[in-house]
Amino acid sequence: MKTFCGRANPTTGAMEWLEEDENYDYHQEIARSRYADMLHDKDRNTKYYQGIRAAVSRVKERGEKAIVLDIGTGTGLLSMMAASAGADFCYAIEVFKPMANAAVKIVEKNGFRDKIKVINKHSTEVTVGPDGDMQCRANILVTELFDTELIGEGALPTYEHAHKYLVQEGCEAVPHRATVYVQLVESKRMWSWNKLFPVHVEAEDGENTIVSPSEMENCPGVPSVCDIQLNQMPSSDFTILSDVVTMFSVDFSKPVRSASTYYRVQLEPVKSGKAQIVLSWWDIDMDPSGMINCTMAPYWVKSTSAFQWRDHWMQCVYFLPNEEPVLQGEKVYLTACRDEYSVWYTLQKARGEEETKADVRVESPVCRCQAHLLWNRPRFGELNDQNRTQQYVKSLMKVLKTDSVCLCISDGSLLPMLAHYLGAKQCMHPARIDLYHCANNLEDKIKIIEARPELLTSSHLEDKKISVLVGEPFFTTSLLPWHNLYFWYVRTAVTSHLTSNVTVLPQSASLHMMIVEFQDLWRIRSPCGTCEGFDVQTMDDMINNSLNFRESKEAEPHPLWEYPCKSLSDPQKVLTFDFRKTVPQHCLSAEGSVDLLRKGKSHGAVLWMEYHLAADISVNTGLMQISNEKGNCEWNPHCKQAVYFFSSVIESETLSDLPSAVTYAINFNTKTGEIAMDFKL
Ligand code: SAH
Repeated sequence: MKTFCGRANPTTGAMEWLEEDENYDYHQEIARSRYADMLHDKDRNTKYYQGIRAAVSRVKERGEKAIVLDIGTGTGLLSMMAASAGADFCYAIEVFKPMANAAVKIVEKNGFRDKIKVINKHSTEVTVGPDGDMQCRANILVTELFDTELIGEGALPTYEHAHKYLVQEGCEAVPHRATVYVQLVESKRMWSWNKLFPVHVEAEDGENTIVSPSEMENCPGVPSVCDIQLNQMPSSDFTILSDVVTMFSVDFSKPVRSASTYYRVQLEPVKSGKAQIVLSWWDIDMDPSGMINCTMAPYWVKSTSAFQWRDHWMQCVYFLPNEEPVLQGEKVYLTACRDEYSVWYTLQKARGEEETKADVRVESPVCRCQAHLLWNRPRFGELNDQNRTQQYVKSLMKVLKTDSVCLCISDGSLLPMLAHYLGAKQCMHPARIDLYHCANNLEDKIKIIEARPELLTSSHLEDKKISVLVGEPFFTTSLLPWHNLYFWYVRTAVTSHLTSNVTVLPQSASLHMMIVEFQDLWRIRSPCGTCEGFDVQTMDDMINNSLNFRESKEAEPHPLWEYPCKSLSDPQKVLTFDFRKTVPQHCLSAEGSVDLLRKGKSHGAVLWMEYHLAADISVNTGLMQISNEKGNCEWNPHCKQAVYFFSSVIESETLSDLPSAVTYAINFNTKTGEIAMDFKL
């Protein structure tokens, strides 16, 4: 069956109707899923196996039959572990149909057909009884339903239900318990992902400061978790204000309550500073004794020998509603509130017990200022990057004149205000909301136009001709770096409203490419073959099939500051886009080769955009520098880059047996706005 899905093309802005196979979403989900990453997570797998063996033994020692309930079986891995450990029977529940089908095949292939029953249902739909899905309640509950925030994938309601209806009282649970840890820190870098700092604009007639409106200052933000690879955050980027403390734990072998609640701990700051951020992670004990522990603790907390790279579980960054000064040794209370699916934090100065209890704010944070809805965390960071702002200020100063009529094409941008302070006569901005102008008394200076930019008419523009067209460019609809070429399409659509000698800023953009070896990221797209002795190739085939579902394999966005890699080639400029001209009718393509300069595994190509604002002034959204001889890369910390994983990895230990070059063909289809690429090693 085919269905039609309407969407605005992220690059061209055109409304298009895509004919989608009914399996389209499935393929997307499988191709980009974290199953492969989980199967590569040796630490997780071995500990689950140990925990499952121990639980089966405990049940057997009691002289009972071991009946396992595995909720969210995925590939069937944990059920196969249980069956191998001697379990009498396993009920493997999986709600996602393609995975349930895969589990059936994998279970069969590994010879567990008689021991494992795969049930394609959500666990809350599972029935127990002589005619039910399960003959009887289980006495071992095995699950892996956790996300970086622990509860974000619905573990609590699933456990609550399972204890009520699917397992016996006093059952064994693997994992046995989860514990959430927190540490209070001050970090300008992380705080810049949540609040807008004052922006200083030095113009010829003095300095102006753009301030955020008070409702933004006091806004609690959004409840969505900020999960990052905290191990990539250098210790110089934050100051530890407290020891690591246990915030709460959940015993999975007992009935679990998912209803909203809060937990409170007393902290004694180890240092004075501004409490801004709560860093958090969890661990799971696979057995009651706590001997089999799997932890997400970051590098400064645990020994390096325990280190396991994984992307399906990272660490959380929580933003306190406001920064609070704290003094070394002067106690404060940290409160974690949670609902069924998410956690948020508040900090209270230590006072009488009654008083502090009274002000627990249990309702989840809701953004009141709109900014947290318009800007995601990296975007906040980008807008707070004063160096970047300076590049725009410098280039605007070069091009603006006192009679400039300016049109800004970018989502939620500060450029109209910069242009105003730098002397533009008028500035117009197609935008959905006015975030700033009222706070800065600029309502009458900057005209907000409520229209899609490519649909602007002369009346929107008060019959004025635009002499300066500016953009960062940044659009919230962009996923891949080149989606911001939407600026070029808007520039083309508004051509009739531009003066004949219009200045377009940025004047051009270029697409750059480099071949890299990833330290770890390669795992998420690499086949597993076997996992703990079980043949999971069916899963590999399924992922591959989904990756090839679309004719051309696509690049995927990743924030590479979180994923170390080394360059194997020099960066290469592959395409340029001249914004002074309109988008051409013909395709833009580049073919060539890049030399491999270092030995290593060519895992893929990274692509990014650079914007040339004015002569000699550029903003780079990708590679900042190659920091040493080894080729370690530093990436723009605010942007995602495009990663194109090669389907076969070329490994070379010595330079002599290197394939000397990688050839590439990159084609930008100006009609569809898509970039197709092909690489040969
Ligand atoms: N157990 C596997 C896969 C874990 S991923 C392993 O450890 O490798 C979690 C899986 O649980 C996903 O496939 C998801 O679709 C499924 N899932 C989550 N909640 C569920 C529920 N309540 N009932 C059934 N399946 C669920």
